Amino acid sequence: MRKRYTLYITKVCNLDCSYCYELDKSSKNLSNSELEKNIDFIFSNASNKDDIEFEFIGGETFLNMDGIKFACNYIETKYSDFRITRYIATTNGTIYSKDIVDFINSKKVFEIGISIDGNKIMHDSCRHFKSTRKGTYSIVAENSKKFLKELKVEPIVTMTVHKLNIGSLFSGIKSLYNLGFNLINIGVNKTDIDDRFVKLFIEHHKQICEYILNQERPLKLFPMMEKQKSISIQTRLKGNDINNSSIVDVYEEATSLDDDRISADLKMYYSMIIQTNKVWTNMGENYERK
Ligand code: SF4
Repeated sequence: MRKRYTLYITKVCNLDCSYCYELDKSSKNLSNSELEKNIDFIFSNASNKDDIEFEFIGGETFLNMDGIKFACNYIETKYSDFRITRYIATTNGTIYSKDIVDFINSKKVFEIGISIDGNKIMHDSCRHFKSTRKGTYSIVAENSKKFLKELKVEPIVTMTVHKLNIGSLFSGIKSLYNLGFNLINIGVNKTDIDDRFVKLFIEHHKQICEYILNQERPLKLFPMMEKQKSISIQTRLKGNDINNSSIVDVYEEATSLDDDRISADLKMYYSMIIQTNKVWTNMGENYERK
């Protein structure tokens, strides 16, 4: 069985996005002893019969690259009898270095997920630098091109869709595709789903599919709607006090949005279009992650 475990690597972030879920972005990074404690807890709930995916999230994960390196080394040394099939670090895309690229490329199964909310206007309306309040699109786009070129495992981009930008979904996906991304994750804010959202979500998906059919490169879309359960163990800091940080959440969750109003229509559409092999998705019967 595939299981995904989530490790908060830092609460520190250089951005101040308008929809940020992380209220405290001022704390220090987790110390090595905190990471050890949290990783030990995660593995006390894991089985060496499972395919284990390890996800690093933040804050901005690349602000604690030393923590990521330490965690990987600790996992591979202490838990070498477990099968790690994937590491994935989520990043806001504002930080790039050769050291980051070299480390990720030194791991066979390390992917990064970059958060970009579609095109420049959409992205910059929500995702700003904390210090200057300026939009981050330009630097994220520039770094994304470097990551796409230099990383051995192709990066995936996540676009968050909510009620304010759903009307620009097609434009956003087209912009990400033209930036060079072939793997696009559409994150949906469940609380924004109403009849208007559903109507636009489906209409824009049809436009995306029609657009891609006339392009050279295929597109892999992950609309985060398949019915699939996975175990997620999250380790978080408690409050601001790094010394009192500990693991607080252990729960089972659906990894994806499960909304029948959307999935019925989209599945029907995808079942027709998927035969072309131009648009690949995790919806419908052809689902198989490659
Ligand atoms: S990148 Fe944005 S959403 Fe992510 S932690 Fe930083 S401020 Fe929050």
